[in-house]
Amino acid sequence: MDLFSVSNGSNNAHVLLVSYPAQGHVAPFMKLSHLLSACGAKVTLVTTQSKHARIVDQEQGPVSIVSVPDGLESEDDRKDVTKLSQSIIRVMPVYVEELIKKINQNEEQGDQKITCVVADSLCGWALELADKFGIKRAMFFTAAPGSLALTLHIPKLIQAGIINLDGAVRKNDNVELSPNLPTLSPAEFMWNNPGHPSLQKIMFEYVKSVNQTVELSDWVLCNWFQGLDPSADHLLPNIIPVGPLLANGKPSGNFWSEDLTCLSWLDRQPPGSVIYAAFGSTSVFSQHQFNELALGLELVGRPFLWVVRPDLSNGNSNDYPNGFTQSVANIGRMVQWAPQEKVLAHPSLACYLTHCGWNSTMEGLSMGVPFLCWPYCADQFYNKSCICEDWKVGLCLSKDENGIITRHEIKKKVEELLSSDGIRKNALNMKALAQESVSPGGSSSKSLEYFVNQIKG
Ligand code: UDP
Repeated sequence: MDLFSVSNGSNNAHVLLVSYPAQGHVAPFMKLSHLLSACGAKVTLVTTQSKHARIVDQEQGPVSIVSVPDGLESEDDRKDVTKLSQSIIRVMPVYVEELIKKINQNEEQGDQKITCVVADSLCGWALELADKFGIKRAMFFTAAPGSLALTLHIPKLIQAGIINLDGAVRKNDNVELSPNLPTLSPAEFMWNNPGHPSLQKIMFEYVKSVNQTVELSDWVLCNWFQGLDPSADHLLPNIIPVGPLLANGKPSGNFWSEDLTCLSWLDRQPPGSVIYAAFGSTSVFSQHQFNELALGLELVGRPFLWVVRPDLSNGNSNDYPNGFTQSVANIGRMVQWAPQEKVLAHPSLACYLTHCGWNSTMEGLSMGVPFLCWPYCADQFYNKSCICEDWKVGLCLSKDENGIITRHEIKKKVEELLSSDGIRKNALNMKALAQESVSPGGSSSKSLEYFVNQIKG
């Protein structure tokens, strides 16, 4: 797919992007950074030192990366979202303020003054800083349109008694967010986590804070495209869809090394035959569920490429079932991290068994691959509804009475998915729409040009 069609000349825009330090945020920020740079803007991306150290593709071309402390000690657990988030908010603003001052004071020495701050919706403090310095402000919302609609709807949900002030569900009524969007059940609220009340609370506070960040934003950039229905085109007057965001071969801030050998393995598989199974950067399976997934892939009997991150199971470092690796040696390939965009675009792919993270969803849509959905947490349940009910480009796996997705369920749904001509056709239509939006003169290409024009100094 072509990159956004944008002029390559330089202009005097200097964008400071501030990303939340998680793979599903750093990756789209990196992709956006490369696009802005291709439009001629100078780009500086801020992340935390601990995440910067984990980025394996350190060479970012014209994009400068600046890393600042996250306030935690090296031995602290950065998977503890509560701890990390509280520390970031305490520490990062101080460093980013210093950075802005330093860049802007060095203007005479050749540093281009920052003309716009683009902040993650979870880093609203960065827009407060921009406001203080009189710099233009944009929020980048990395999730789905419906998730933004839900966020904007929180005050009404509280008023209608659907949720408490702390986000806990009071009434199990389905909610219509906007006539353009599918109804949402409270189980799909992205902060919903009844098993972990303290995590639920902090997630709710974070989601709620996005509304203040929206208020502070001159523009809201988002990773979707016009024509993606349901969309959020009418949610806010200043929404700018610039997606689907793809790396197109540029570095995308991977925390794990891509195993490129799987591409030559894919080359050896028949067209339309391979199941690609990947669950993003944070999903974790119980050992029992991990085994059932492995045995399900084996039972299907088709070639499969399975991304097994080192921390994918909570068992003993991804122990495969007895005899599994030997019995799938001819049909299966396991890697720690895949070059996902290239894999999804490969002609050997049949379908994508996915956790429905928004980045992965946009990548799968862009490549026209049918989805088999296995959402794990947060906004993934809502994304699953978009995939299965709105766009009709996939099917969802169901849990049994013990909360397990069995090997038999996996086999049954793969067969059902692959025998559906309707789903394949819809997936190809989506691919065409996605490609059109980022091709020369496409809606997202034009939006990006518009944005860069607005932020020139
Ligand atoms: N990804 C990748 N290789 C893999 C698995 C995932 O490059 O083997 C990338 C994927 O392309 C996507 C990101 O990791 O851009 C995951 O983001 P997403 O929002 O889908 O899920 P999250 O990790 O936030 O749950």
